[in-house]
Amino acid sequence: MKTAQKISLLGVAWLLFGWGFFAHQKINRLAVFTLPPEMSVFYKKNIDYLSDAAVNPDRRRYAVPEEVPRHYIDLDVYGDSAAYKLPRYWNEAVAKFGEDSLVKHGIVPWHINRVYFQLREAFLLKDPGSILRLSADLGHYVGDAHVPLHTTKNYDGQLTDQIGIHAFWESRLPELFFNEYDFFVGPAQHIDDVQKEVWRIIAQTNQALDSVLRFEKKLSQQMGNRKFNFETKGKQTVKVFSQEYSKKYHELLSGMVERQFRASVKATGKLWYTAWVDAGQPDLKSLIDYKPTEEELARRREELKKWREERKVGVREHEGEGR
Ligand SMILES: [Zn+2]
Repeated sequence: MKTAQKISLLGVAWLLFGWGFFAHQKINRLAVFTLPPEMSVFYKKNIDYLSDAAVNPDRRRYAVPEEVPRHYIDLDVYGDSAAYKLPRYWNEAVAKFGEDSLVKHGIVPWHINRVYFQLREAFLLKDPGSILRLSADLGHYVGDAHVPLHTTKNYDGQLTDQIGIHAFWESRLPELFFNEYDFFVGPAQHIDDVQKEVWRIIAQTNQALDSVLRFEKKLSQQMGNRKFNFETKGKQTVKVFSQEYSKKYHELLSGMVERQFRASVKATGKLWYTAWVDAGQPDLKSLIDYKPTEEELARRREELKKWREERKVGVREHEGEGR
């Protein structure tokens, strides 16, 4: 194979997708097992869909321009301790920075909260199609929020001469070491304040960023041209970070990728569970074989609206559904 061809394949391997497809699908699949029986009966029945659809948000990125900023936030453009100082709620953030500016630097923490509300709404409407679609989406964004390189403008090490580190961390390492991970994360618990919990996650993810970049830099200086080699995948030969280099990096990070992966599974389960509890724990068993028609769903939407008006249960000002 010609070098130019190899290099172009390397370029393909370096496309930036959040966790690789593989990890995103596993996160959604494993999150199903954190759910209580009343939920898991429905989620297990649809586990293949939830796993396949885990990568839909990344697929949409090319067709839907609004999709792009939902996967990350460049915290460093906001200065020190941004994860603690940025306005917690979308409406406050828009008031302070304006929507265009927020969108430019990524909106993942606010977007997760928004999808949580949409999922809660889908549970209230007992709309199985939307419950599944939004659950799958939510797992994706929650996964992205656990990737340190999704919290910086230096998202692929391009500002520090470490191009390729993104896919290295989130695709290559999980593929090589996935079999060693411990998948038991315990049962999902209810989250009292989803938006605050998301910010806690973002802050914790961002704390890991320094090690992600620093250790790779150090290793790169030590190992020089042993950093890469070529592997055959099917009929293609691809330039990859060598096994030796990957193992050393994995050890330097002392389980970070696994920790973030497990935290993604746990948080996804918690958000699904919280949306269901906050919608009054609707019976999901009845949704396994029944698909409501569009008219039926429209009627339910109307009922829900009336019920809200009567009870004056409005959307709280802070809840930020207005996006
Ligand atoms: Zn993504």
